[in-house]
Order: sequence, then structure tokens, then C-alpha cells
Amino acid sequence: MKNPLGKLFVISAPSGAGKTTLCQELVRHDPHLHHLVSHTTRTPRPGEQDGCDYTFISQDEFSRMIDADLFAEWAVVHGNYYGTSMERIQKILECGEDVLMDIDVQGAGQIRRRNLDATFVFILPPSMEVLSGRLRNRRSDAEDVISRRLQKAAEEIQCYKQYDYLVINDELGKTLEKLQAIITAARLEVGWLDERWIAKEFYLNPG
Ligand code: 5GP
Repeated sequence: MKNPLGKLFVISAPSGAGKTTLCQELVRHDPHLHHLVSHTTRTPRPGEQDGCDYTFISQDEFSRMIDADLFAEWAVVHGNYYGTSMERIQKILECGEDVLMDIDVQGAGQIRRRNLDATFVFILPPSMEVLSGRLRNRRSDAEDVISRRLQKAAEEIQCYKQYDYLVINDELGKTLEKLQAIITAARLEVGWLDERWIAKEFYLNPG
């Protein structure tokens, strides 16, 4: 019943909403869902692997990729460049497998404007207090960085109407169930199912 082309899922959330963990868990539990590895100019954090978490490239390389129109979308987030390679998306979709893109609101807007057939999900923290607590508990960022992230979060949250679904991440297990339900529903959309298969199996040769 699967369409020969896979589905595209776009997930955005303010920093500290728990999106990275959620995306990792979604991919871990679903063999047909693949995390799209983005390109970025930011330096790797401890433990991050090139080609696995991101493809880490120089500013010059990133500019060359923009000029060659190789990105499905790209944006500057917290001072660094991030972009999704169109070729990488297509490679996965053409295998009939689904793509999970974890990108910011600017990138999601570009994917929507390109009219790519995608399902857009926005994840919210339970409240701004919880978000602020989570960012402070990381203890890795200075106070001015935290305030900038909170200010940015408030701006990003205002873009929620660009999305198809809004999910509040109050409890990891329940949030995962909601995201899995959205993915399952998208895979069952009539417009996406393989018409030829349904016709062949059910009505072209009855009896
Ligand atoms: P981080 O550097 O903390 O991994 O990610 C910072 C932000 O950049 C997150 O909101 C993440 O979703 C976003 N991001 C990661 N990859 C991409 C990308 O390819 N395109 C866009 N537009 N944003 C991205």
C-alpha cells in the first residue's frame, strides 16, 4: 500500500523544548523514518560526529552550496548557518522511506513556500517558565545567551500557525505517542496512498 515516494515530516521547536530527544526517539522506534542530516557552519559540540549529527562545513563551502542552489532551505540560527540538502531529501524519499527534518521556523517557512508535500509539526514546552528552567538547568550557557534564547523562543512561538500540528511536550512518553499518531495519520492520507496499487488489488479485476 506504500506510495513509491516517502513522506516528509518537518519538526520545529524553540531551543529547550526537547525536540532533539523527541526526534532521536521517533527515528529509533520507526525503521521507515530517517533523520535528515543537515549542513552547518557551527563547530561540533563534544560527542557530535560529522556526517551523523550534522555535516560540519566552512562558511565558504556553505556559500558555494547556496550559490549552486543545493539547499531545499537554509537559515541563520543563533549566528550559524544551517541548511538541508535537496539531494539528501530526494534520495530518501525516492527509496519510499520517510524523512524527518528538525529545522527552525525560517527553514520550515521555506519548505512550505516551495510547496513540498510535507507535514509540519510545532513542539511547545509546557510553559515559558518551564522553558526558562530547562535552559538554566543546562548550566552550559551564560545568562545573556539564555535571555537571547528565551527572546528568540518567544518570537518563534508566534509562527505556530504555519504548522499543521501543535504538540506540547509535557511528558516524553505521551508526546512521543502524539507524534507517532501524527506520522501514522499522515501515512494514511488518501492523497498520498498509491492509487495504482489500490486499483489493482481491489477494483480493476474483481473476482
Ligand atoms: P543546534 O545547533 O542546537 O543543533 O540547532 C539549532 C537550531 O537550528 C535548532 O532549532 C535546529 O532545529 C535548527 N536547525 C538544524 N538544522 C537545520 C537546518 O538544516 N535548517 C534550518 N533552517 N534549521 C536547522
